[in-house]
Amino acid sequence: MMQQYLALKAEHPDKLLFYRMGDFYELFHEDAVKAARLLDITLTTRGQSAGVPIRMAGVPYHAAEQYLARLVRLGESVAICEQVGDPATSKGPVERKVVKVVTPGTLTDQALLDDKQENRLLALCIHRGRLGLAWLSLASGDCALMDCEVDKLISEIERLRPAEILLPEESAPPVLASLNIPVHQLPPWQFDVDTATRKLNQLFGTHDLAGFGVQDGMLAVGAAGALIDYVKLTQGGNLPALACLRVENSSQYIELDAATRRNLEISETIRGERAPTLFSVLDHTATSMGARLLQHWLHHPLRDHRQILERQQGISQLLDAACEDALQTCLREIADIERIAGRIALKSARPRDLSSLRDSLAQLPQLVASLPQGGLFAALASALTVDDALTALLQAAILPEPSVVLREGGVIAAGYSTELDELRALQSDCGAFLAALEAREREATGIATLRVEYNRVAGFFIEISNANTALVPAHYRRRQTMKNAERYITPELKEFEDKALSAQERALALEKALFDALLDELQPHIPALRLAAQGVATVDVMASLALHAREWRYVAPVFVDEVVLDIRAGRHPVVEAQIADFIPNSAQFASTRKLLLITGPNMGGKSTYMRQTALIVLLAHIGSLVPADQAVIGRVDRIFTRIGASDDLAGGRSTFMVEMSETANILNNATEHSLVLMDEVGRGTSTFDGLALAWAIARALIEKNRAYTLFATHYFELTRLAQDYAQVANVHLDAVEHKDRIVFLHAVEEGPASQSYGVAVAQLAGVPREVVRQAKRKLVELEQASVMRDGQSDLFSAIAISDVMSEPEIHPVVEQLSAVNPDELTPKMALELVYALHRAL
Ligand code: ADP
Repeated sequence: MMQQYLALKAEHPDKLLFYRMGDFYELFHEDAVKAARLLDITLTTRGQSAGVPIRMAGVPYHAAEQYLARLVRLGESVAICEQVGDPATSKGPVERKVVKVVTPGTLTDQALLDDKQENRLLALCIHRGRLGLAWLSLASGDCALMDCEVDKLISEIERLRPAEILLPEESAPPVLASLNIPVHQLPPWQFDVDTATRKLNQLFGTHDLAGFGVQDGMLAVGAAGALIDYVKLTQGGNLPALACLRVENSSQYIELDAATRRNLEISETIRGERAPTLFSVLDHTATSMGARLLQHWLHHPLRDHRQILERQQGISQLLDAACEDALQTCLREIADIERIAGRIALKSARPRDLSSLRDSLAQLPQLVASLPQGGLFAALASALTVDDALTALLQAAILPEPSVVLREGGVIAAGYSTELDELRALQSDCGAFLAALEAREREATGIATLRVEYNRVAGFFIEISNANTALVPAHYRRRQTMKNAERYITPELKEFEDKALSAQERALALEKALFDALLDELQPHIPALRLAAQGVATVDVMASLALHAREWRYVAPVFVDEVVLDIRAGRHPVVEAQIADFIPNSAQFASTRKLLLITGPNMGGKSTYMRQTALIVLLAHIGSLVPADQAVIGRVDRIFTRIGASDDLAGGRSTFMVEMSETANILNNATEHSLVLMDEVGRGTSTFDGLALAWAIARALIEKNRAYTLFATHYFELTRLAQDYAQVANVHLDAVEHKDRIVFLHAVEEGPASQSYGVAVAQLAGVPREVVRQAKRKLVELEQASVMRDGQSDLFSAIAISDVMSEPEIHPVVEQLSAVNPDELTPKMALELVYALHRAL
């Protein structure tokens, strides 16, 4: 047995091997040690190998799913090895085979998947500065390709958020190590583009891939080849049924870099929690398909105004028809058709999958009837109209409440197969036969307490209490002796037992065969099911957005081609849901007003204001209505943010380094259609350094990038930029000091702030009174000293920004040196000059 085990283990060295033995999956050697630690199960030993006890740990077969779920969540992969031979006929150990490999990116089991999260497997390869990406969701059959620049690696991974990444060996970019996503390395030849092209053509029955939009030499095709091989391996050789192949390009979506996705807290807070986020606040979806699609929309804001307006008009239609509630009532009854279709495609669907599919399909006509007419809903209604024959087939084949597992029977409906009905009749006739037999034998023997019964261990028997043993007829054969009774069998009963037991066995085998045949019969319907699933998800998301828009009085933004962002009385969608009195604020940009310089006290609401502007722009581009009184939005290509301090210690970068590399990314890539949020840039270094950097960065954003910029700063000196540049406007948030306290007004006003209230905020935060008092005194001192020195009260003049920085003064030593004519110097004079210059330095 150990030989068999070791041979199987050698094929899966990097996975835990679940080796089936009777009712347990056993793990041996290092696997056992690891599993015992990760799962908190007992580590034992069994037998010896070269004199050393073999370590072993096991999980019961019936509870395996929960252990698998835990392992996969920890990023482990598990190879499941089952007994495939017949124990009765095999000599030596039963034949065993790895039937499936469970890895984080290839899950399809309901119990192992997160309902609201898309589960993607991503393969990537890098060649000459280009990056090829291919990703696949096995549950939905969605497969997409994309080639891009290699520096987009992290932002694409943050966008796709894969559960597992495949890479060619020896090419792991070090940045991946910091991401905490399981990475699996494969031999480089698995990424070969030509082989992959052939494989994909075979899979889709095509001659070339141009019809999918694939261009010659796309690296992503090679990555797709590796994906397919990997999926085949994990699914026990079954080829994945892909819905279709898509080629994505980055210009389809508004680009959000990795930092921006985090900073805007779209579906995860900066601390990595699920709530409160934009998604958690907006999500009123009734199905998990809807929840996943809403997340996808939020992470993929569209650029194409036509597509956006289609969604927006759909939501407005729902609001006009006031039908969200009716739709949601229907939607709540619909199961995860998408994932069920995925399991049918992989032939791993279970009985309850098919019964919930049947019940869900029955809801679709009602859903279609509740939809408004026209626009986007015409196409949706047709996607949601599924062939009646399919519903009829499922209704005919599956019992109303089938049992959970197929091997227990009770799955196939009566009337679906005559043979099965007959076998079942044999079993149910059992009761009547036994009652008749009992009556007959009581009479024949004269034992009134004689009982005919069945249990799993003893089978059928006639039980007679010890008091009546003398009356037992000669043809009774003893089967079992109990404490107070004897159990007997007769030839007649034995014959019946054989028939009944074999009927049961045959019925179970037949049900399994019928179920497998049914899965085959369902295969041609998978594309229609996937289309319907998409339809349900879309209706669900739009109803959810409509519901939220109604509750929070959102308005439809207007899209224009001019350079403009004009948000009137905008609100932060997440913060307003959390506090009682949210103060709305406007944000206006045009070609003549491109940078808003925001000043004001800490806690004044600067970050909230900046983020709400970005979130409103984001929401507008997924087709949603927005939290504002009015919004006019021009073309937007990217959103960048540089917010807050976050050390990337795992990546080996300090706070300031992170800040500057994010800034570099913005300055190198932002265009006049980009929205840029800069929060307190330059804070991570010394005052002069920071101020000088902030000043130069702001100038570059105005002059070169010309992006829509929200620039919050505590360097009050920067407010002067508005004098130099027409496109810069100062806005501020205010606070008032009331007795010894400070009250924040949270209203954005034109013009620079008058003071920063740092000391007052420190007091609010509970800094000891004495420290606050001393700070106040020192502040007065510093301000006076500054006025005395420069006649002005700010730091900005100290580095005399406009002249000192652009035209540095000539150093006196240089001046002195340039006045000298070397030809006229004696050696002694030259030596004296060196001394003089050195002193001057
Ligand atoms: P800053 O960035 O200026 O330090 P924040 O944007 O972090 O300030 O805001 C601090 C707190 O003030 C927020 O947590 C929120 O509770 C409150 N706040 C911010 N903006 C508003 C607003 N417009 N209306 C009401 N409360 C607000």
